[in-house]
Amino acid sequence: QTLLSPSRIQVLDPRLANQIAAGEVVERPASVAKELIENAIDAGGARIEVEVEQGGTRLIKVRDDGIGIGKEDLPLALARHATSKIASLEDLEGVSSLGFRGEALASVSSVSRLELVSNAESDPREGWRVVAEGRGMEARVSPAPHPRGTSVSVRDLFFNTPARRKFLRTEKTEFAHLEETFRRQALSRYDIAWVLKHNQKVVHQLPPGDSPSARERRIASLLGKNFIEHARYIEREVGPLRLSGWVGLPTHSRAQADQQYFFVNGRVVRDRLVAHAVRQAYKDVLYNGRHPVFVLYLSLDPDVVDVNVHPTKHEVRFRDGRTVHDFLYSSLHHCLATSRPNAASESAD
Ligand code: ADP
Ligand code: MG
Repeated sequence: QTLLSPSRIQVLDPRLANQIAAGEVVERPASVAKELIENAIDAGGARIEVEVEQGGTRLIKVRDDGIGIGKEDLPLALARHATSKIASLEDLEGVSSLGFRGEALASVSSVSRLELVSNAESDPREGWRVVAEGRGMEARVSPAPHPRGTSVSVRDLFFNTPARRKFLRTEKTEFAHLEETFRRQALSRYDIAWVLKHNQKVVHQLPPGDSPSARERRIASLLGKNFIEHARYIEREVGPLRLSGWVGLPTHSRAQADQQYFFVNGRVVRDRLVAHAVRQAYKDVLYNGRHPVFVLYLSLDPDVVDVNVHPTKHEVRFRDGRTVHDFLYSSLHHCLATSRPNAASESAD
């Protein structure tokens, strides 16, 4: 049958439709970890534990002590376009949760062996387990004890999609990506206690704490003592825009742009406009080819920034990009200009 001969139009099986959608968001174990961790944060977890085996290709398990999912909602948790986070276009425009597309669990469970166990009650005997089976991805729910909260286990990622599995790299590389995702999430919420384990070994264990010194301890433990010793704390508010965080001094530049964290309303983003403002601010104080380090938090009214630009939500669109750009540039420029005793620029790596 050639492409030119007419063929009947059919609706895809749910699993196949989900596998196609998974192509957009599920690239590797780190992308699965990102989605599961975002769900744990949205659920209000105070403690989030991430357990990984073989770089995440064998197992990624995220456990939280958040609100959990009630038994009657469980079948919908793995269904596509099903979400508890928004119900209308107005909700979408002012969205403050990390998720809202209702696609992640459906996508991930179509390309892995996903099991979700949850309990929305205080009695640990009340837990339930759900898996999605067959081409129709019918939800099967069975009792499973679990303390209040949710655990999602994703095993054997891409076991049924060989074309995608081929793109997986070594265990070490996949874990490095996953650890970076964990780092970003842990830097986005200091009030949450975090644990990351790889092949039964604890890689990061971060106690909760929102005070300035607790924050600095967390940054030092995730990015190294050097980072915090060569950074200056900044805090600035102009109208509805608020910027805070740590700006690396030119004495601690790096050969790669690998320690640059920028959060917009708690969501880590890679944005061209932000990158440009930062580059401009460092232009005169950094040697060519060197990259600054920073951990910065921008907050602004959720309805002046659009987060629904790309399925991975790594990009955002500001309603008034110019103002945001100028605010960032002037804040950083001022900070760097006033904290530089001389133009010395020794490298830190
Ligand atoms: P989204 O996060 O965009 O809503 P997901 O597919 O990631 O979509 O999750 C679907 C729904 O399952 C969520 O809206 C939420 O109601 C529920 N859910 C997923 N993970 C958790 C969790 N860790 N705790 C509580 N509820 C969860
Ligand atoms: Mg989600």
